[in-house]
Amino acid sequence: MSILYNILGKPGRDNALYIKINSGKRFYRLLFDCGESVLASLDQSEIKSIDYIFFSHCHIDHVAGFDYLFRRIYDREKPVVIYGPPGITKIIFNRLNGFTWNLVSDLKGEWIINEFENGEVKTSVIKASDSFSKISSSASAKRDEFILLTQDFGIKMFFLNHSISSAGYLIKEKETYNIDKDLLAQLGITAGEWLQKVKDENSDINEIIYTGGRSYSVLYLKELLLRKKEGDSLAYMTDFVFDGQAEEAVKIIKNCDTIVCESQYLEDEKHLAEQNFHITGSQAGKIAADAEADKLILFHVSDRYRGDDFLAMLDEARVVFPKTYYPPEWKI
Ligand SMILES: [Zn+2]
Repeated sequence: MSILYNILGKPGRDNALYIKINSGKRFYRLLFDCGESVLASLDQSEIKSIDYIFFSHCHIDHVAGFDYLFRRIYDREKPVVIYGPPGITKIIFNRLNGFTWNLVSDLKGEWIINEFENGEVKTSVIKASDSFSKISSSASAKRDEFILLTQDFGIKMFFLNHSISSAGYLIKEKETYNIDKDLLAQLGITAGEWLQKVKDENSDINEIIYTGGRSYSVLYLKELLLRKKEGDSLAYMTDFVFDGQAEEAVKIIKNCDTIVCESQYLEDEKHLAEQNFHITGSQAGKIAADAEADKLILFHVSDRYRGDDFLAMLDEARVVFPKTYYPPEWKI
């Protein structure tokens, strides 16, 4: 199990986050935001296989690359599933309707949009076979702690203050249990296919395993041999001002492995950060320090900065949180 991530888009340009979760059995592909040209570095096959799309908010630098994405997946067999803040349904609906559609009755494309507001989620379905012209069904429900939960990972959403609501996300893999092979060898227990029964969470714990001339219950072997491994976790936070709401978010992402966080301004332009509802690199460092994260990745830097400014910003963040980096693909 692991979370692989890439920051899409260049320094000082529109950025997005692309995640692949490797469950050991399959990959899940997740896209967070979709600014201009951010998908240019991704293979077409990757884009067509994206499982879930998340938006922080719908300012143009987070949505301007949507048509490129839309063109590649509008009629695919697997439904397209979107999560986003208040207003996401209307914005996506309008974008799907930015084209002329006819001869579409055979198209399979189905778009499922989950809009979160005031503790509720409204789920709307829009179909290609309807020329994307109407919402074919819509239902509201109380939102759960996890907005998405699969057998391998869960996602939490929290809101940040960008003068509008900007959604932050925490991606958390489920824990796994592995056999302590060293202990197995130490105890001289003969390995075999029965190990799968010890690992399998649905196996009958009272079943008796015979191995090496001895017998053990599955429960005994589970307690003896299984070692818990926490899953990876990653937080995505962009477009927000450093205020009480951001401090609340820190509680939600506490102890996560990696934080991917916006870093719009240098410290001497903090007034611009406040004015424009953004944060500085140093404030991103404070968030990572308070959350006791392992690593901070800065992205979404203002286009007003050049070479040395980027290094200065990194230094400012590292004073507060030493394990701060730019995305390696930026080559800064
Ligand atoms: Zn914004």
